[in-house]
Amino acid sequence: MSASTHEVVNQPPPLVGHDLAADAALVEALGREGAGWAADDLHRLGKLGGEAEAQRWGDEANRHEPRLLTHDRYGHRVDEVDFHPSWHRLMDVAVSEGLAGAAWADPRPGAHVARAAGLFTWGQVEAGHICPVSMTYAVVPALRHDAALAGAYEPLLTSRVYDPGLRAPGTKRGLLAGMGMTEKQGGSDVRANSTTATPAADGTYRLRGHKWFTSAPMCDLFLVLAQAPAGLTCFLVPRVLPDGSRNTFRIQRLKDKLGNRSNASSEPEFDETVAWRVGDEGRGVRTIIDMVAMTRLDCVTGSASGMRAALVQAVHHARHRSAFGGPLIAKPLMRNVLADLAVETEAATALALRLAGAVDRGVRGDAAERAFGRLAIAVAKFWVCKRQPAVVGEALECLGGNGYVEDSGLPRLYRDAPLNSIWEGSGNVQALDVLRTLQREPGSLAAFRAEVAAAAGADRRLDEAAAGLATMLSGADLESQARRIVGRMAVVLQGALLVRHAPAAVADAFCASRLGGDWGHTFGTLPSGAGTAALIERAMPA
Ligand SMILES: Cc1cc2nc3c(=O)[nH]c(=O)nc-3n(C[C@H](O)[C@H](O)[C@H](O)COP(=O)(O)OP(=O)(O)OC[C@H]3O[C@@H](n4cnc5c(N)ncnc54)[C@H](O)[C@@H]3O)c2cc1C
Repeated sequence: MSASTHEVVNQPPPLVGHDLAADAALVEALGREGAGWAADDLHRLGKLGGEAEAQRWGDEANRHEPRLLTHDRYGHRVDEVDFHPSWHRLMDVAVSEGLAGAAWADPRPGAHVARAAGLFTWGQVEAGHICPVSMTYAVVPALRHDAALAGAYEPLLTSRVYDPGLRAPGTKRGLLAGMGMTEKQGGSDVRANSTTATPAADGTYRLRGHKWFTSAPMCDLFLVLAQAPAGLTCFLVPRVLPDGSRNTFRIQRLKDKLGNRSNASSEPEFDETVAWRVGDEGRGVRTIIDMVAMTRLDCVTGSASGMRAALVQAVHHARHRSAFGGPLIAKPLMRNVLADLAVETEAATALALRLAGAVDRGVRGDAAERAFGRLAIAVAKFWVCKRQPAVVGEALECLGGNGYVEDSGLPRLYRDAPLNSIWEGSGNVQALDVLRTLQREPGSLAAFRAEVAAAAGADRRLDEAAAGLATMLSGADLESQARRIVGRMAVVLQGALLVRHAPAAVADAFCASRLGGDWGHTFGTLPSGAGTAALIERAMPA
């Protein structure tokens, strides 16, 4: 018997059955960056992501966390991780939709843009499984430092078949890759790595040492940094050797993490572990950086995706929830908050897709785009990833107390939000990397300036900010000012993109607040007169 004390009213319906890709900022950028041909597939993926079943996969993969199995019942070491079936469903969609390595085997111009848009869309369902998906995408350019290894493994890394389980790589229909750089004594400063690599008579190496973070340890292949006789070197470590026997990859623990809980992050030990050198001895950082650059791109896309996922929940809630005599979405102050979040999210989306376009054109031989991407990815990695926790926190508050409760999905988005800024170059390290790139590759600054100059004359506030940036870059004490400089570079770049491509209301609100200084210290402080109606309408989930 139920005690009927009240009716349930004024609670929004679940946001389900919508198309995650019905996002004007995303679809316009997709066409602009040369992948308009992918729109139908993107909407198909977006609709799949909006279904209740996909949402359930995301929820279950996080509630039923991966479990480490060190030994089998007889006491043999197995070092495997057991995932909930929903994790495998998510992975299967991601790989079969081409979000892992497939873009590298796709000759169509715009393939990397289409893939980034897919990652942005599908990442809204669940962010944790994007980690191995992203590393599998990112490993390809680094592996190409060794033609024989690339020849053997690239066709499987670019496959659209998700084939889980530890078996000899050559016997599988698709492979996944991870990376092992970080050790206990130093992550950012990989020169402090102590894992050793000893040459063997057959041309392979034997690794001995440990890694403090190695995510997705059920991947088939890993790029690992270790100290060879001539210095820090990049190695390929398969979990299963070509003859079908297990390589030594002893998983000591899985991390008990703030978020990213569907994904396993491990502490492996290597002992007589067989490894193949990738690139020259002593050039490990130079080799693996080609992987890191691509995972950084995905950090930007992933952060934009996390913002969008939170924003649509906030807009949906405000549309269906009333307080003080009317829907929240009609309240001027709530409109300011939602519009401000929408502007931030659109700026992140436009930038992420612009970077994917630069990668796409770069791999097809456009040197200026390659130079632009080298600098702009690092700038965006610092800035967009830093914005994600702020955006998600504010979107969560739009749901009031409901947003603080697990069922709403916002707590998961909130726990996941800081991660993109930490891994693959934490904030300070990322900002310092930008300074290094400016110093070493003046061509990349020229490409960055050309991108901003393409918007010159369209908005006075943007022009003034661009001029101010030039002064900052020539200033003294650059290291302590790195965050200021890189943050400014990012908003100038975002402003230039929005002024050229976004509706006037978006570009104007961005330039007034982010560049013109007419803004407060929290979201919801756009100046009076900002076109909040147009901004919210554009952000509305379909
Ligand atoms: C969930 C998760 C999964 C991960 N998965 C992987 C993985 O699969 N493979 C892998 O190799 N690593 C992985 N990592 C590790 C991650 O890449 C590192 O944690 C990160 O690079 C930072 O390194 P660190 O933890 O050693 O911190 P540190 O390098 O000690 O840095 C600590 C802080 O100091 C700052 N700092 C460092 N140097 C300077 C400086 N010169 N000036 C100013 N500030 C500075 C940093 O920005 C940071 O804020 C993972 C981490 C997490 C949280």
